[in-house]
Amino acid sequence: MMDRPSVDQMTKESFYNDAKEYWQNIPSTVDGMLGGFGKISGEDINGSLNFIKPFLTGAWAERVGSNRALDCGCGIGRITKHLLLPLFQQVDMVEQTQKFLDEADLFIGEGASRVGQKICSGLQHFKPRLEHYDVIWCQWVLGHLTDEHLVDFLKRAKTGLTENGIICVKENIAKSGVVFDDQDSSVTRSKAELKKIFALAGLTILKEADQKRFPLGLFAVRMYALR
Ligand code: SAH
Repeated sequence: MMDRPSVDQMTKESFYNDAKEYWQNIPSTVDGMLGGFGKISGEDINGSLNFIKPFLTGAWAERVGSNRALDCGCGIGRITKHLLLPLFQQVDMVEQTQKFLDEADLFIGEGASRVGQKICSGLQHFKPRLEHYDVIWCQWVLGHLTDEHLVDFLKRAKTGLTENGIICVKENIAKSGVVFDDQDSSVTRSKAELKKIFALAGLTILKEADQKRFPLGLFAVRMYALR
């Protein structure tokens, strides 16, 4: 515990409320979603597409279905629009900030008719339908959950997967330990911290890869496919 002072920040009472308040005051734009780095969105989506494609085409051992995906902490639907709707028949969205969900139809445009449910909930409270999703995508949101809540959320997410379904996690990576961000009240975990959490949730890492070609000075970003 001594070498992980950020753990105290995570368990302090205002951890969730401070984050809620932060996002409430962020504009419903791609720039807002990415903390001013809207310009990296295209590269981000490309990296994700290359990561996930082998699972959907059957290049991976067992082919993952392409019926339904869930976008967790979706914001206005940047990932739903550019990554998931092009790959899946239907996409559900779960997000804590209602005003982002309210913007989603307009932001997504044409594909919005294939968005199923738009669920307003914190992931710490959310329970997906059983065996419902081929892919559950979680990006730039899991740092808003405490370790304990994250383990429990991932356990519930696992029950939401179809037979060959996968959970994809794409998050910033700290060099070591857990780094607290007092601007948005989130933590950034190291690879070791994330792996501990995945193991506690009973998940196996099927594939992992670094996001390439992001600007220097940002955190490293890594993708994981789990089941
Ligand atoms: N994943 C999206 C949005 C990233 S911004 C993208 O990559 O474009 C982070 C999002 O997480 C915001 O929309 C914020 O409202 C949401 N969020 C923050 N805490 C959350 C929580 N506890 N549960 C669910 N969503 C949360």
